[in-house]
Amino acid sequence: MIDKLYISQSLSDLIAKMDEDGVTYTRKMLEFYSEQYKSVREQSNGNTAVASIHDLIDECMQALVKKATDYTVSCQKGCSFCCYQRVDISDDEASLLVELAKLKGFEIDYQRLEKQLAAKDEKEFQQLRPRHRKCVFLQDGDCAVYEHRPSACRKLVVVSDPKNCDTVSNRGAKVGKLADLEAEVVTAAALNVRESGSMAEMILKLR
Ligand code: SF4
Repeated sequence: MIDKLYISQSLSDLIAKMDEDGVTYTRKMLEFYSEQYKSVREQSNGNTAVASIHDLIDECMQALVKKATDYTVSCQKGCSFCCYQRVDISDDEASLLVELAKLKGFEIDYQRLEKQLAAKDEKEFQQLRPRHRKCVFLQDGDCAVYEHRPSACRKLVVVSDPKNCDTVSNRGAKVGKLADLEAEVVTAAALNVRESGSMAEMILKLR
């Protein structure tokens, strides 16, 4: 049953607008991609499995942006308001991120992750000071792991005024996003197949 699995708010919003056939189709897609992830993972390793879904999500989002001609994408290099939100990742994604930090030679701020982990829910997370909420991979205003950023970051495409994403000056402003069913399902499948949680939780487990 879909409602017993991990699903993001975006996927939940898409499902809420579906009829019964749509929900059945989505559940089958979720089962299909869960099996695909397990199979790639068994035949290779976590990094390869993660890369395969990241490529697929990128393809889905690029096709969606091409089709959505009525919208203008606001996301651009240097805009990092979305990197102050809680991001859920799998254990495979966490391992890859820790490996990349080592390769790129920067220290992960574990104290900040502990502060983030102490926030029990999204509401408490949003009450943290911005410097404590900031993603530990946001270095000098840029994502230091951009090519390998988690699925949750890859499938986020904003089409509203970028100022609305500023949770400090415009707290509660409505943010318009494009959502792609396949990208959402692929993301959910990997998170359900593997152990998953907030970035803080999953990275702290590897320390
Ligand atoms: S991983 Fe990169 S894109 Fe994702 S929240 Fe962190 S800095 Fe932003």
